[in-house]
Amino acid sequence: MSADCLFCKIVAGAVPADVVHETDTTLAFRDIGPKAPVHVLVIPKAHHADVAALALADPGLAGEVLAAAAAVAGTEGLLADGYRTIFNTGGYGGQEVFHVHAHVVGGAPLGPMLSPR
Ligand code: AMP
Ligand code: ZN
Repeated sequence: MSADCLFCKIVAGAVPADVVHETDTTLAFRDIGPKAPVHVLVIPKAHHADVAALALADPGLAGEVLAAAAAVAGTEGLLADGYRTIFNTGGYGGQEVFHVHAHVVGGAPLGPMLSPR
């Protein structure tokens, strides 16, 4: 647990969340500001700042986060039509919460991956 980390507080139960999936090492909950009909965040319970730090420190746990994201896609009914898994990383990547999280978004066509430049 990292002090003052919002997602560590959710893991600890100190901040409420709408949890949709949990394993011994991961937690998935609905994004508070959904950008698509389905928008779930999947995190490792252990604190790692971003996906690069997680992959370096604990590649097995990174795989567990990906497996949990796939499980959420299944339980949310996204597998037939497709969906997107996003790890925003750092400032240019638009990361706002520095506890690694996969966004699992779907439930409607998502449009282009990035806005045209
Ligand atoms: P990112 O910009 O990739 O760091 O994404 C952070 C995400 O966390 C945003 O999509 C926010 O809507 C979401 N978020 C912020 N606070 C909460 C919260 N208390 N519960 C659920 N999602 C949250
Ligand atoms: Zn944290």
